[in-house]
Amino acid sequence: MSYGVYIHIPFCKKKCQYCDFPSWEGKEDLMSAYTQAIVKEIEAQEPFLAKAGPASSVFIGGGTPTVIPITQLERIIDAVRENIPLDPEAEFTVEANPGTVTLEHMTALYTMGVTRLSIGAQTFENDILERIGRIHTAQDIKDAVRWARAAGFTNVSMDLMYGLPGQTMKNLVDSIGSAMDLAVTHISVYGLQVEDGTPLKAKIEAGEITLPTDEETEAMYDYVVNNLPPYGFARYEISNFARDGFESRHNLGYWSDKPYIGFGAAAHSYWGGRRTENLRTPEEYIASIERGESPARPEEPSTPEIQMAEFCFLELRTVRGIDREQFEKRFGCTVESVYQKVIDDLKLKELLTSDEKYIRLTPKGMKLGNVAFRAFLL
Ligand code: SF4
Repeated sequence: MSYGVYIHIPFCKKKCQYCDFPSWEGKEDLMSAYTQAIVKEIEAQEPFLAKAGPASSVFIGGGTPTVIPITQLERIIDAVRENIPLDPEAEFTVEANPGTVTLEHMTALYTMGVTRLSIGAQTFENDILERIGRIHTAQDIKDAVRWARAAGFTNVSMDLMYGLPGQTMKNLVDSIGSAMDLAVTHISVYGLQVEDGTPLKAKIEAGEITLPTDEETEAMYDYVVNNLPPYGFARYEISNFARDGFESRHNLGYWSDKPYIGFGAAAHSYWGGRRTENLRTPEEYIASIERGESPARPEEPSTPEIQMAEFCFLELRTVRGIDREQFEKRFGCTVESVYQKVIDDLKLKELLTSDEKYIRLTPKGMKLGNVAFRAFLL
């Protein structure tokens, strides 16, 4: 059975203005105990995973994995290699925040067998980077990619954002141009989401920050979707574009109903159709591991209807779409037997299309993804 492994490092140098992820600044004193706890959690799963067979991908994300001392990252990677059987071709990604890495860092990661770096750039405009609370400059992004290449990495992904405060179309075009100049192999492009409880939301409500208009943001989305393919980046998921052969195997697993196991605070697992989430804060997580308890908690009990809807909207995120055969194998009935009316309605609105094997979003459906996803929640 093929599955993914996710490891969460919940520390950041400084919290970004828009971020509501489970990540914290100012908790450096917990890093060492946290590393020990993750190693213990991984070791505890060794007998179970030995039976499950080799993992096809490992993803160390955050937070900022590269903010913890490299010796601690090394302990975690060693624990993975010693306790989890890995496919010889396994993709091994580490997220790296420019401003927390050096050439030595990159070289160490490469030597440890990391095969892919995911660099959180967001934009190459220094004033916008500062406004959204990023800790790095455009030059730091360029240095990070240059060092990654010098260390030996050939698979380098970059995250960019659109709809940022003060961002213009020209800024976005320039940022994509800069990413192309750096010859990255994969790009994830996300629209800014203004989340409740974030400093960004408070500043917008106080009138201190303004965002591009809806029309400007939509034009930026259109630019991304229309202009990355001519550069050789095929869209394979709503927000993800890759050169041929550089699609993220780990993320494709999330969108195609593959099981995954998560380690660390707030990490999610999906195994045997059951979803669990680890205790959210590093303090709670460390304490539970130190007591010898499992940090995993079951997520909301799921009904077959919810499982079917989740299956559909995760697969719909990909350009391939819902695999009819897989759906039938998993649920014992055809997609149409459950969703015929939804499919017909969405086709009428030109959001959905289908062929013998797959049901997928149209380009318009990709743009209005949430409308289509909601329709599957019967
Ligand atoms: S670096 Fe990432 S995880 Fe950390 S605060 Fe910024 S957006 Fe959140």
